[in-house]
Amino acid sequence: MKIICIGRNYLDHAREMDNDVPEEPVFFMKPDSALVTGNRPFPYPGFSDMVHHELEVVIRIGRPGRSIGEGSAGQHFSEIGLGVDFTARDLQKEMKSRGLPWEIAKSFDDSAPVSRFLPVSEFSDIHHLSFRLDLNGKTVQNGNTSLMIFSFERIIAYVSRFITLKKGDLLFTGTPAGVGPVAAGDRLEAFLEGEKMMDFRVK
Ligand code: MG
Repeated sequence: MKIICIGRNYLDHAREMDNDVPEEPVFFMKPDSALVTGNRPFPYPGFSDMVHHELEVVIRIGRPGRSIGEGSAGQHFSEIGLGVDFTARDLQKEMKSRGLPWEIAKSFDDSAPVSRFLPVSEFSDIHHLSFRLDLNGKTVQNGNTSLMIFSFERIIAYVSRFITLKKGDLLFTGTPAGVGPVAAGDRLEAFLEGEKMMDFRVK
């Protein structure tokens, strides 16, 4: 199982990070050791002083494929949930400034907590899904999949040109604006279409 994450897929987040808006999806990967399920606490890593939350809609690949066409990409996923792409922003800034890959800022252990997954068929339109993150009871991120620069289908088509997608792979589809730091003791609650999907703490 692998975790593929899309960067810069919401205009407001690309702007808050002073990034250019990409012409094609930008992606990176996290190893399976990044995965956290079941609302287990997120252990704050000792190597960073600035870990940011990035709430994202996550789709789970149900049917394998490579070089998948955008028109048939919808047949390759049938489950949807939420995840937090925890990012060591201080390390990422340093690596970016040196023009180096920023894996250490993104791929560390426990950096990808995910919710349970729901069948896509439960939603009338997955291209208009609201999602939000509350940090200690206050809403800090508020997104809607209608604002994605690259759709789920476009992402699957693009990524599968380079990497075979397998059943069970997870695709993090980008974060909206409002990313910010977390600290030990914080409580994170994430909602999809108003339904609570995640509720966990930073330890
Ligand atoms: Mg992200």
